[in-house]
Amino acid sequence: MAIKRRPSFNSHNPVSDEVIGTYPIMSKNEVDDVVAHARLAFAQWNGLGFGERKRVLLAWSSLIINRIEQIAQLISRETGKPLSDARLEVSIAVNQISWAARHAESILRTSFRRPGLLMANMSATVERSPMGVIGVIGPWNYPLYTPVGSISYALAAGNTVVFKPSEYTPGVGVWLEDTFNEVAPFADIFTTITGLAQTGTSLCLSGINKLSFTGSTRTAKLVAAQCAEVMVPVVLECGGKDPVIVASDADIRRAVDATMWSAMANAGQSCIGAERVYIDESVADEFISRAVELAGEIHAGAPGDANYGPATMPSQLKVIQSHIKAAIADGGTSVFGGPQSVKAPFVQPVILIDVPEDSIAMQSETFGPVIIINRVATMSEAIRLSNASAYGLGANVWSKRKGKKIASQLHCGMVAINSTFAFAAIPSVPFGGVKDSGSGRVHGPEGLLEYTFARTVVRSRFYLPLHFLSFKRRPQDDRLVIKLTRILKGRLG
Ligand code: NAD
Repeated sequence: MAIKRRPSFNSHNPVSDEVIGTYPIMSKNEVDDVVAHARLAFAQWNGLGFGERKRVLLAWSSLIINRIEQIAQLISRETGKPLSDARLEVSIAVNQISWAARHAESILRTSFRRPGLLMANMSATVERSPMGVIGVIGPWNYPLYTPVGSISYALAAGNTVVFKPSEYTPGVGVWLEDTFNEVAPFADIFTTITGLAQTGTSLCLSGINKLSFTGSTRTAKLVAAQCAEVMVPVVLECGGKDPVIVASDADIRRAVDATMWSAMANAGQSCIGAERVYIDESVADEFISRAVELAGEIHAGAPGDANYGPATMPSQLKVIQSHIKAAIADGGTSVFGGPQSVKAPFVQPVILIDVPEDSIAMQSETFGPVIIINRVATMSEAIRLSNASAYGLGANVWSKRKGKKIASQLHCGMVAINSTFAFAAIPSVPFGGVKDSGSGRVHGPEGLLEYTFARTVVRSRFYLPLHFLSFKRRPQDDRLVIKLTRILKGRLG
């Protein structure tokens, strides 16, 4: 009798195409089984309390930073990014774990609310309860930093976690599970499952209590629909088309340096990477010539050999090239590089200017080292065009005096003024988007609250001689309620 082999898939080094590892494609039954074990572990993990969970998570963060070379090498092999970028990713992720561990107790402690005069005899409290098992589905572009922003916050809040990494970076996901288990007090608190899209679907339908998804908007819609079938709430961290607004009083040298890094680092594969610049026309020429000069100094190549690496996902190369071609066909001008800059597996820097707003290159996420610079007459126009997008993830504003005023008018989840990416490295602030960029938040207090539900508990402290909540209610009780409502209008509430 032929032995049926377990289905599996390979992960590849995107630079050499060499096979790095082989991982099982986990079936629906296997995923259900993992989630059932995570559910059994939940009561015990939650029962440990904040103090003990903090100890475990801090031990995990120490272990990760102590093995930074090992995990940075693996990230670099699976994604093709430079080792230095991988090290930065690990350091920022470790910070997130430690912050979640240290702040969970104070943020999630029971809060006392004012009961209001009508209910003055009651005490009113709100408890934050962990939800149970949290499913996390991750992308490949920041294979450690991104999922850790959900995993560590969910764990700190008292949940157990089942994580499905991208099929391009399964090794990082398995490494995270293995290292966690070195410090875990018992099994099944945090488990990694491997597989393709179908394994992700199985996770959505496995009885998890919430799903935290990071990936493309297209997949997010599928995942949200699957979860809706079984009433599983979702956090969706999706793509972006982040604008950079440059005012006439901006420090142009700094703005160019940061914008080019934001657009090109990690081969442009950053959800919060700059994709379009709206610049005051009075300073546009200087910005463009400095950007072209800088583009001439950076190049894509293998780790150790270049400023950034390959397109991790080969199919993205076609999208990037089609956006460059469309931008030019629609009337834009290439001032550095062009369609010929796409040479698998790398894409060399591309700068386009004056691209019409209705071009697909302005509308859709390119996810490559391509930046489009469009001139505007006023900052109001820059704000209007920035907001006229299906996406609303992050934005950067460059201005010495008007930064805050501009930032407050942007329809997006995060804005960096005279900086870029900084909000992603500050654990105390929430990260996430609006519109097609998703919903819900990771990081910060909001990121901890996301993996809990509010349980309101009110308690009678003494009995009033009034009968509001009873069939014994009398006409004078009615009159008193109306009178108090008229006078108080929510005051003392
Ligand atoms: P993707 O949508 O292709 O895949 C994401 C994950 O979903 C993978 O693990 C994949 O296996 C899984 N998946 C695919 N189909 C599924 C299905 N039908 N059901 C369940 N799971 C399924 O995204 P990607 O290419 O890995 O990542 C790049 C995208 O992620 C970009 O759009 C980028 O902007 C976005 N991103 C967003 C953030 C953020 O925080 N907003 C962070 C990083 C990346």
